[in-house]
Amino acid sequence: MNIILLGPPGAGKGTQAERLIKQLNAVQISTGDIFRTNIKNNTPLGAKAKEYINKGQLVPDELTIDLVWDALDKVEDEKSVLLDGFPRNITQAEALDEGMQKRDKKIDKVININVPEDVIIERISGRRVNVSTGKVYHIKFNPPKVEGIDDETGEKLIQREDDTEKAVKQRLDVYNKQTSVLIDYYDKKGILVTIDGAKTPDEVFDQIKKSLEK
Ligand code: ADP
Ligand code: AMP
Repeated sequence: MNIILLGPPGAGKGTQAERLIKQLNAVQISTGDIFRTNIKNNTPLGAKAKEYINKGQLVPDELTIDLVWDALDKVEDEKSVLLDGFPRNITQAEALDEGMQKRDKKIDKVININVPEDVIIERISGRRVNVSTGKVYHIKFNPPKVEGIDDETGEKLIQREDDTEKAVKQRLDVYNKQTSVLIDYYDKKGILVTIDGAKTPDEVFDQIKKSLEK
């Protein structure tokens, strides 16, 4: 089963992906995580992507789409794929359709995590991440045992440079103008389910599990 997690920034896609990959024996492909790893490792892709990411803009499609194929082609055939943060506009969605078809694969479900804007702002402003592993915390809703330190690896947690108020406003604008049209795109294909993301992580996960049973 191949799944897309759709939703505005801060909706909880990464948080739910962490649970879902265990449940489904799936591989998570998060374009945001891939870009952040490249930035951390000072790669040429990281340097290019950073210019866009820190301003809250989308990284150009030509830098993004091929990354997804590289990651997808490494996944063993029997595993499910969980796309987190991709696609983010119609061009990417159409490229995904075409590329999946070429590989004799398909997207089975698109989980749209719906969260109001005031909740998003509160979530993003308290988010802390481990850039090496992509693990996500929140200073209030999901704090680490020791402040600023990852429970699992002991590494330092950081606040993302694009989690500033200015970049978040821009990212929400990009979501509203370019990404939210994908709700309709996948609804028309009959594979969209919408989940209330303003509940606790466990409650959100329960809704997702139920929607996958249908
Ligand atoms: P996304 O991947 O959609 O940008 P994240 O999974 O990184 O979102 O979540 C954004 C922030 O909100 C993180 O700090 C995370 O710990 C927190 N968070 C995620 N889901 C919930 C929830 N259901 N309730 C409260 N906080 C949450
Ligand atoms: P995320 O971790 O999903 O919040 O993504 C962080 C940032 O990475 C976004 O604001 C974009 O700048 C960039 N990014 C992630 N995924 C994509 C994508 N599919 N297309 C373009 N840019 C992306």
